[in-house]
Amino acid sequence: MKKQKTDIVIVGTGASGLYAALNLPRDREILMITKDTVENSDSFLAQGGICVLRDPDDYDSFMEDTLRAGHYENNRAAVDVMIRFSRSTIEDLISYGVDFTRDGTGNLAYTREGAHSKPRILYHADITGREITSKLLAQVRQLPNVTIREQVTMLDILEQENSCFGILVRESDGTLATIVADETVWACGGVGGLYVHSTNFPHLTGDALAISLLHGITLEHINYVQIHPTTLYSKTPGRRFLISESVRGEGARLYNAAGERFTDEVLPRDLLTQEVRKQMKKDGKPYVWLDMSPLGRETILSHFPNIYQHCLSEGYDVTRDWIPVVPAQHYFMGGVKVDLQSRTSMNHLYAIGETSCNGVHGANRLASNSLLESLIFAKRAAEDISTHRSETDVSDLGNKLADQLDLSTYEDLSQLQAQYKTMILDEMERERKEK
Ligand SMILES: Cc1cc2nc3c(=O)[nH]c(=O)nc-3n(C[C@H](O)[C@H](O)[C@H](O)COP(=O)(O)OP(=O)(O)OC[C@H]3O[C@@H](n4cnc5c(N)ncnc54)[C@H](O)[C@@H]3O)c2cc1C
Repeated sequence: MKKQKTDIVIVGTGASGLYAALNLPRDREILMITKDTVENSDSFLAQGGICVLRDPDDYDSFMEDTLRAGHYENNRAAVDVMIRFSRSTIEDLISYGVDFTRDGTGNLAYTREGAHSKPRILYHADITGREITSKLLAQVRQLPNVTIREQVTMLDILEQENSCFGILVRESDGTLATIVADETVWACGGVGGLYVHSTNFPHLTGDALAISLLHGITLEHINYVQIHPTTLYSKTPGRRFLISESVRGEGARLYNAAGERFTDEVLPRDLLTQEVRKQMKKDGKPYVWLDMSPLGRETILSHFPNIYQHCLSEGYDVTRDWIPVVPAQHYFMGGVKVDLQSRTSMNHLYAIGETSCNGVHGANRLASNSLLESLIFAKRAAEDISTHRSETDVSDLGNKLADQLDLSTYEDLSQLQAQYKTMILDEMERERKEK
């Protein structure tokens, strides 16, 4: 079996993994791996935008909107960190070339989504995630100390006495290999791949959660899964196309089968999902209707060109046609429990982005808080790694642990994936029943 040693291994190349890499010291060797290609992360799919504290007077209402959406189950200290560091994070993104949409006078333009009491979301048309993540990727590609390897899947960690010494992976050619590392960072995204209907990439299957269950790493709120109320209804299997909440924030309307409005379109996601599902049941239909025409042709074409084009390719001209929409799995509020420095319960193991749970989102995420939270807590992980630098050489121990692995456990990938999926869904169910 091939064995490799690096200083820091980052599992995942979405926004959180890339931003962590950018904030780690340049004299440390960093290896990033992704299960798929670098463009295939949920970070590239984000449409609506990224929240920011507009001005100091917005603090209380940003806090309250986040807490109310999260049913007051949020970790207030984590929300405070997110809000306070939001402006500097946006400035950082702009310095990397991220081009947020601006108003007629050249100032940043702000939009609004469900459950926000005021517009505080920055965006780039309706492809904000692509704009941010591609610029972060371009920056990381310039770093001589970072290597990105695609189609490499983490299957397990190298662990002894609650300390992590790296990971076991499946290479793109199907062979097994180990990557021994001083520090391991999980940036593996969410769990959409465990669901039939999801807006997420299907390869995001919560692998870090299953590995946590195997090694006794603490998880939190893993039954807190967000369903997005409006994805484009389709009979074909595969990823569901999201109709961003900001179209409702900007005035799009929901209608039942009789063509009547039945709810407040800017309710928090979980409550709106309930209303949509109730209405679908009453109507006996697998969808309700969404009308984007109140936004006007010009706004639709300038602010939502991606949604316009996608719907057109499915036969709907959203400047005049109503589109059928249905709720689908979208986001994972729970995850690997971390502290405010993104440290897990295992030594030398960090978790960031959607894989982690620092409590920012509580029981339900406020729209456009996830990219922001992912970036801020990725930087905090990088800062913690930088300040607690260990000079101990873990190569020998890591290699010894690699030699002790029973490789037969990992040879049948589909069996392993099925086992991991069952473990996660069972744990979610157990937690749901316990509540
Ligand atoms: C359609 C859509 C629209 C969204 N819109 C918004 C929005 O407008 N605003 C907002 O704030 N948020 C939005 N979100 C949520 C946001 O995009 C995600 O929460 C965020 O991008 C997650 O970033 P991440 O770095 O944690 O994970 P991801 O970007 O999902 O990256 C995960 C990475 O981990 C890798 N990986 C996973 N498992 C393994 C493994 N076992 N081995 C190796 N690699 C692995 C994947 O290949 C990938 O590279 C949206 C999400 C979706 C799906």
